Amino acid sequence: MSYNTRRYFEKRIRKKVGSALHDYSMITSQDKVMVAISGGKDSIVLLQVLCDLRKAAPVQFDIIPVHIRTGFEKDFEKVAIWIQNELHLEVMQIDSHISNILQKVSDPEKSTCALCSRLRRGVLYGLAPRLSASSIALGHHMDDIIETFLLRCFFTGQIGAMAPSRVSNDGKNRVIRPMAYCTNDLVENYFHYLDIEPVETLCPLRNDSKRELVRAYLSEFERQIPTVKYSIFAALGNIDTKSMCLKEGIYAYHD
Ligand code: SF4
Repeated sequence: MSYNTRRYFEKRIRKKVGSALHDYSMITSQDKVMVAISGGKDSIVLLQVLCDLRKAAPVQFDIIPVHIRTGFEKDFEKVAIWIQNELHLEVMQIDSHISNILQKVSDPEKSTCALCSRLRRGVLYGLAPRLSASSIALGHHMDDIIETFLLRCFFTGQIGAMAPSRVSNDGKNRVIRPMAYCTNDLVENYFHYLDIEPVETLCPLRNDSKRELVRAYLSEFERQIPTVKYSIFAALGNIDTKSMCLKEGIYAYHD
């Protein structure tokens, strides 16, 4: 198969998403998967791949695309129409007051994007039980997971990332990240063939300088160690707890 064709990226991304779905038992028969659609490339690719995989999947599941209106996006309708025409799904659009909240609490020292994402997640968590959704699928990919791990490590003194599949803190929702095995490059390359413009975000609050810094470090590492992202991701599932600096608790190591 020739490289750099739609078919090539389509096969690669389907394989990776299929493996993640399988490895983390993300979807089972009769599941209703609510897919969060911001209108950016990641969520559009996620929806496209889930729809493709559903056609050949051994289990039957429903897909409910949901868009939370933050008040910052321009022309989401174009994305909604594309989804309707190409994927034959209606996007449920939910109003929120997120832009107002963010403008009131905006702190130049803190990442507004992190708060914005928590607020959107809150709306999704409230909606999922009302739609009887068994899980909420988010468009985070491998780069997002690694960056979050490094951010928490560098700036909060904590080891943690974004799990490919987890139950929310209140125990009421399951969040899945089917693109956990896909790099941003793969998602971007595939998106390029989908013939849709991502939604434009007219957000004046974008302030994620720490993430930008981590991203710059990562790409510098990648220049010197081409497999570094795969290695960091593998490390997140291969923790030698005995060598960690835990003081007490079940994982504390005693010589
Ligand atoms: S850029 Fe604006 S809309 Fe996007 S995540 Fe950040 S705060 Fe939210």
